[in-house]
Amino acid sequence: MANSITPLVAGNWKMNGMIASSDEARAMAAGLADLADPKCDVLICPPATLIGFLARVLGESAISLGAQDCHPQPGGAHTGDIAAEMLADVGATTVIVGHSERRQDHGETDALVASKAQAAWRAGLKAIICVGESEAERDAGDALTVVRSQLEGSVPPEATASDTIIAYEPIWAIGTGRTPTPADVAEVHDAVRETLKELLRPEGEGMRILYGGSVKPGNAAELMSASNVNGALVGGASLKAEDFLGIIRAYS
Ligand code: PEP
Repeated sequence: MANSITPLVAGNWKMNGMIASSDEARAMAAGLADLADPKCDVLICPPATLIGFLARVLGESAISLGAQDCHPQPGGAHTGDIAAEMLADVGATTVIVGHSERRQDHGETDALVASKAQAAWRAGLKAIICVGESEAERDAGDALTVVRSQLEGSVPPEATASDTIIAYEPIWAIGTGRTPTPADVAEVHDAVRETLKELLRPEGEGMRILYGGSVKPGNAAELMSASNVNGALVGGASLKAEDFLGIIRAYS
């Protein structure tokens, strides 16, 4: 089953991007259209301010749009927050939840992340649920235990392979230029697969598991060849068309 999973290359623009960034998005769409047979799905998650605009810019292109966070509720008195329904309304298909930067900067708990995943499904969006250990946790030999516990707390039991994607992102590899070895990636991804199968039964077999953390054109193919890696969540290298397309080509 895992071999038949279509990989996903997802770009997380974080708090970067203005109207002028549509030039990069256009170049990404054009580069993707030039690929004879792209072997992966492609998603860009710009800041929420740009989703509606880029939906119009990208039109019928093969690039889908996603968001970086949502509120658990569909509406109400939550100043500054954005409901999953609002993201769907402007053209998002997917939303990242539980990114380590939100867990750290906003104190998001596993339970909150799970409720955001459920909000995504309620609005018809896919949820990319992020997990990953800190450097101290890895050094202490606790990476697998930490990731397992995050999966148990953040992935609701009703998750399916079609509405949920897992992103394993070791925190120490995000934005640092450091990456785990392919063997280390495989060890965690194999463990994530086993945990998903245990928690979700057959749905866990076909669920995409992305690797994220300093993926670049130069290391994408090696990281993607690791066992149970079904794509990449890309931060910095998703901001420039040339870099992002370089990663997409690693699949083609
Ligand atoms: C991320 O923030 O999801 C990420 C993987 O960032 P980077 O690729 O820049 O390490």
